[in-house]
Amino acid sequence: MANRDILIVGGGLAGLFLALKLAPRRCTVIALAPLGQAAASAWAQGGLAAALSPEDNPSLHAADTVAAGAGIVDPVVARLIAKEGANRVRDLLELGVPFDRTADGELALSLEAAHSRARVARVSGDLAGKAIMESLTYAVASSAHIEVIDRVKALALLQDTNGRIAGVLAKDATGRTLELHARETVLCAGGSGGLFAITTNPRSSQGDAMAMAYTAGALIADPEFVQFHPTAIDIGRDPAPLATEALRGEGAKLIDRTGRAFMTDYHPLADLAPRDEVARAIHCERAAGRGAFLDCRAAIGAHFPDHFPTVFETCRSANIDPREQPIPVAPAMHYHMGGVVTDLWARTSLEGLSACGETASTGAHGANRLASNSLLEAVVFAERAARRLRDSNLPEAGPATATSPPELNELSLVELRKRMHGQVGVVRDAPGLGATLDWITAAKTNVGQARALVASYLITAGAFARQESRGGHYRSDYPEHAPPHRTFMRKGEDGLPLIQHSAIAAGA
Ligand SMILES: Cc1cc2nc3c(=O)[nH]c(=O)nc-3n(C[C@H](O)[C@H](O)[C@H](O)COP(=O)(O)OP(=O)(O)OC[C@H]3O[C@@H](n4cnc5c(N)ncnc54)[C@H](O)[C@@H]3O)c2cc1C
Repeated sequence: MANRDILIVGGGLAGLFLALKLAPRRCTVIALAPLGQAAASAWAQGGLAAALSPEDNPSLHAADTVAAGAGIVDPVVARLIAKEGANRVRDLLELGVPFDRTADGELALSLEAAHSRARVARVSGDLAGKAIMESLTYAVASSAHIEVIDRVKALALLQDTNGRIAGVLAKDATGRTLELHARETVLCAGGSGGLFAITTNPRSSQGDAMAMAYTAGALIADPEFVQFHPTAIDIGRDPAPLATEALRGEGAKLIDRTGRAFMTDYHPLADLAPRDEVARAIHCERAAGRGAFLDCRAAIGAHFPDHFPTVFETCRSANIDPREQPIPVAPAMHYHMGGVVTDLWARTSLEGLSACGETASTGAHGANRLASNSLLEAVVFAERAARRLRDSNLPEAGPATATSPPELNELSLVELRKRMHGQVGVVRDAPGLGATLDWITAAKTNVGQARALVASYLITAGAFARQESRGGHYRSDYPEHAPPHRTFMRKGEDGLPLIQHSAIAAGA
């Protein structure tokens, strides 16, 4: 196969923004589906956070990011995304993204949970992701420097004898195996929600990039930190549609089957408690058989179709009228804070390999992502990767190979997702995590190093090793904080992760 210059694995926000910013340097984007599909970016409802108003500034945004991350956000990275955010929003405006405006023509900014200022740029209420992806897809289609190959799945990283990454081994829609060689490979393949039975992510977001990078020897950080969205709509759909937190912001209440509002039993802020606290409360109510429902009747009522069109349509499609009936909800795997370690320029620990977007662990999110910071992180780091790569003289790798890993069959994937949801979910403990590690190990013995098994093992091993509760990671057997530390993992000689915990100095 012909050599490519820069190969971008993933056509979500991170991948497309990087491709556009690389102009005029040639690049190739591969994606599982046509652009705009099978990408979490297109589903983002809230919007993109950035300090854009006169009442706001990057220091305040960075401070909120650090506070939300429960002690392990890298403050340098928090400042960096906060500082560069406004310029990236301007870039998106230039690309035609129709962010909502006030009557005066200023950007209309929403206030979201744990933000001290209104700073979330949105589109038509809850359609930010769709609008952003439409603008970017349009721009990509008219950019001669970008080649897009969709319906292609990356299976493994090609690597030369010096360990330099040289592209990917991939499979096209006909099942044909391809070797896509490149001077630089950038993983922008999203998160890993599809490894959990209840998720808001596209099913195909199965931690492929983390598994491929780990297998090739890259450093992974904090894989145990997963954010569960408290209120996925529980109508038996996979993936589960989202009931945005703005509903509770407007006064909607969580109730059990008898109509009792239960959040006051769990947290002084009741329905406006932090995301992880609400997710655990809902988990407990459901586990106790009382069920959990979002009651929007009094707070939103007749305004529902205008104010929350996406949620309204979803409910109606399941024969629920949220103006008159409570919405059944369940916590769902929503965002992966951990992932492939990158530096401030999106470089991974392997030569020839970069990563951006949800795949990367930049240090921006710590143990808990601040709402609407993920679209921000994706564009900031994609632009920085482009700035580094655009004019760089990239060396070519030597002859490179990769072993094609097996795929997990559907039956095993269903079982894996059930176990990840039940035992590596909102509430974790040593027996459940240990049993999951044993199950994955046995599955690996039978099937081999399938990417879904490798990624799930890293998440579970990180959760097992972290003997404390922090942010999105809650251990019922270790409910307290330990001194703050990050988890780093690299593949050992036996294929299992070598885990190192790295302490964070006070005040860092
Ligand atoms: C329902 C929902 C609502 C959200 N709302 C918000 C919000 O309001 N604000 C916010 O900041 N964040 C939000 N998020 C999170 C945010 O959308 C994501 O973190 C972000 O869009 C990730 O962008 P990405 O480009 O890294 O990945 P994605 O957009 O998921 O794109 C991944 C790409 O990689 C491709 N891919 C995956 N595996 C492979 C493979 N093996 N080979 C080839 N290609 C592959 C996919 O096809 C896709 O093109 C939300 C997420 C969800 C699910």
